[in-house]
Amino acid sequence: MNLLLHGATLIDGISSEPRSRMTLKIEGDRLVEIAPAARVSPNGTTVLDLSGLTVMPGLIDAHAHLGLVYDFRAEGDPGSVSAAQVAAWTFENCALCLDAGFTTVRDMCGVDGGLVRAIESGAVRGPRVFPSGPAIVQTGGHGNLSGPFCEANHFFALPGLVQMIAPCDGVDAVRKQARINFRRGATQLKVFISGGVVSTTDRLEDTQLSVEELRAAVEEAQARDSYVAGHAHNVRAIRNGLAAGLACFEHGTMLDEATAHAMAQAGAALDPTLTVCHLMAEEWRAWGLPESVVPRVRGCEEAMGRSLLLADQAGVLIGSGSDLLGRRQNRRGLELVLKASLLSPLRAVQCATINNARIMRQDHLLGSLQVGKVADVIAVRGDPLTDPDLFDDPSRVIVVIKGGNIEKNLLTENRKES
Ligand SMILES: [Zn+2]
Repeated sequence: MNLLLHGATLIDGISSEPRSRMTLKIEGDRLVEIAPAARVSPNGTTVLDLSGLTVMPGLIDAHAHLGLVYDFRAEGDPGSVSAAQVAAWTFENCALCLDAGFTTVRDMCGVDGGLVRAIESGAVRGPRVFPSGPAIVQTGGHGNLSGPFCEANHFFALPGLVQMIAPCDGVDAVRKQARINFRRGATQLKVFISGGVVSTTDRLEDTQLSVEELRAAVEEAQARDSYVAGHAHNVRAIRNGLAAGLACFEHGTMLDEATAHAMAQAGAALDPTLTVCHLMAEEWRAWGLPESVVPRVRGCEEAMGRSLLLADQAGVLIGSGSDLLGRRQNRRGLELVLKASLLSPLRAVQCATINNARIMRQDHLLGSLQVGKVADVIAVRGDPLTDPDLFDDPSRVIVVIKGGNIEKNLLTENRKES
């Protein structure tokens, strides 16, 4: 289908200024023309009149967990949640994700290529997903939630749908799991290299996995022209990750200036996740987490904000991730709201579009509205540069187009009412 998006103000993800009354022409899945409204001929195309709205690149969440929908406490109660429930709730999150204007997510542990196939088949409404598969984690590391005195590790492992972690000890085990993940459709690897908030037997200050183990993951990723992202709250973990060649660090809660410069020098990116810190103290029960996470998350949002600014000043590429967990993930856009208050609304948009696309090595296709790129476009009601709060309200995301297909359109519904 050919489409003409007519008359909106354009934020293209690259330019420093919006342009008013622009028209975008889409043929197939690509943007083929972007010009002032008066100059584009509507020949043989479906026209959407977007006057009064702002069009932007489809948003990207570089730290999603679409499939971590079950009660984590149930890991100690195997069999209490069915695969069908997990699938249904995951698909529901996929739809909510699109409705909030996110056309692409990088899933940072949980789902695998099975979900990608389900969405691509057209049977599930959802974003373009770049899955990591299960996170590679050491015994007793972050996410290893079964009780410490339990002989076996209990965690969901439903190949083709979801698996949160894969405990690996030693270079060979890491290498094998990396190969399994790629075989099941992973587009990058996720490793846990420090303790985490959602853990029961570690500290945020701990480092996890050895540099040698991390190097094995990096080698396997590089063999496939891919990369490794590391969950890291502290600088010792980031230093280990840099030594091993990790390309991206998630959270980065307790960064210091010297480490920020070391990241910049290595060309490593930072993907802060303010939303999860902001919401966890209230949402832990709904997300199926143990109450023990509440004191662990205290102070994380402020510390992460400081780290973000340090990294930005050092010249590190800054991404945007929500790290939302649980069922009905409908606050994905909050990350832009929180980031806008630290950087600026425009820079928050750029972090969640072109910067994320660069981190994911997809910027030749995604992350900005430019001729030749994939037509992932959203139209929002209001001015995101003066009112970034709109990102936290999916009802203000009026049109969502993914790969040239209209996935959401409140425009026609509004018209019918009037
Ligand atoms: Zn996460």
